[in-house]
Amino acid sequence: MLWTVGLCLLLGSSGMSHPLSSRGGNSGRNKLLLISFDGFRWDYDRDVDTPNLDAMARDGVKATYVTPAFLTITNPTHFTIITGRYIENHGVIHNMWFNTTTLEKKSYWQTQFVNEWWDNGSLPIWITAQRQGLKAGSLHFPGTASLYQGEKVGVGEVEPAVYDYSNETVWRGNVDKVMGSWFRDQDLDFVAMYFGEPDGAGHKFGPDSPQRKEMVKQVDRTVGYLRASAERHGIGERLNIIITADHGMSTVYRKNVNEIVLRKIPNFSFSDLAFHIVDYGPTGMLLPKEGRLDKVYNALKGAHPHLNVYKKEEMPSRLHFSKSERILPIVLWADPGYLINGYFPVQWNKGEHGFDNRGLDMKPFFRAVGPSFQKNLEVSPFETVNIYPLMCHLLGITPEPNDGQLNYTRQMLVPPTEGLIRPRIFIGLGAVGGFLILVFFVFMIHNVLKRQKTQERSETAEHEEDSTNIKQTSM
Ligand SMILES: [Zn+2]
Repeated sequence: MLWTVGLCLLLGSSGMSHPLSSRGGNSGRNKLLLISFDGFRWDYDRDVDTPNLDAMARDGVKATYVTPAFLTITNPTHFTIITGRYIENHGVIHNMWFNTTTLEKKSYWQTQFVNEWWDNGSLPIWITAQRQGLKAGSLHFPGTASLYQGEKVGVGEVEPAVYDYSNETVWRGNVDKVMGSWFRDQDLDFVAMYFGEPDGAGHKFGPDSPQRKEMVKQVDRTVGYLRASAERHGIGERLNIIITADHGMSTVYRKNVNEIVLRKIPNFSFSDLAFHIVDYGPTGMLLPKEGRLDKVYNALKGAHPHLNVYKKEEMPSRLHFSKSERILPIVLWADPGYLINGYFPVQWNKGEHGFDNRGLDMKPFFRAVGPSFQKNLEVSPFETVNIYPLMCHLLGITPEPNDGQLNYTRQMLVPPTEGLIRPRIFIGLGAVGGFLILVFFVFMIHNVLKRQKTQERSETAEHEEDSTNIKQTSM
């Protein structure tokens, strides 16, 4: 009985110490919001006043920068963030779905609806969360529309084909929807949210332009708005927020530059190709016709000082862009500032991404704030594959096999000793100890009293015996 009571006290205390269960609410566990601001380069807050991002860094954690997966383009790198897998392992190898037999290609937006492009063996975190009993949502995040092994995100919204990705009023409406309707009313545990800027401004006007700086101010206002919205809807105290991006942005050289135009390269001919993807920023992929692989490769290798040419199987392993069957036999990428053109220069953006992920221009930012994160802490750079295991840890779910490690991000978290576990275990042990000491004293006092009574009784009996003896004597 004693032990049972003690054990209940102990279990009761340590049961409450689960790191996820805090501060009430419907489910009682912390919620997680993942946000991507497309193309937000790590240093975009250096030449613009960003009071809200600065406040978030003071209240939480900031990484100097993070390293995206290669190719550094939107759909592949976003899918890395939500699966924790390198692009060669999750298979969403390009923004565009393509078919090398029919020569068909689909645009970024159309590709959202091609299930087999996304459903390729790796599960986004929202499916894993749902399978483990949580409720998840996704607003405009790449991969939202697809079914994965027959399952879809519980609450999802895909932007329409014609959509203004930069409208701040719409952004605020979406923030209030996620905070109020999704997190508070529908009690979702996880939401992924996507904003199409400052990528648009960076492409069109260049990463150093006033327009990009204005857009960063808009992002900053939105960060302030969403943290205030979380408070207004009563979920601020148990909402962890991670804000990052898919890639950075680099200025495209225009004047007096030896542009890369494949048609102009001696011994190279498009007639040797069965299929190609070029005129898509600084990267390209080629499928030579049967027996012409070496001819195409030899013509291109070393043909331009700023064009990198690799056979798929010879790709540098650090890029993790080789293993997938979908990757075409020859992979091309240009050095920063250069683009890969096919027949003619047809790309007019002032900013581009897709370059080697080693270049600082390709690195996105990373911020996190909430009850599970340390305050005012800047951490060293890490790869974005590591965001997935961090998110699984925050949600208390078992991750799918992935290429990341929690060890790279664990230092951002409030240690359990300062949080909840140990103090409560000590309180539990203390309670049991105190209870046992109390029982011991009660037991001892009881024994002492009992012994005293027995003694008194035997003394009385002796006395009575003496009296009888006396009486007897007197008789
Ligand atoms: Zn992007």
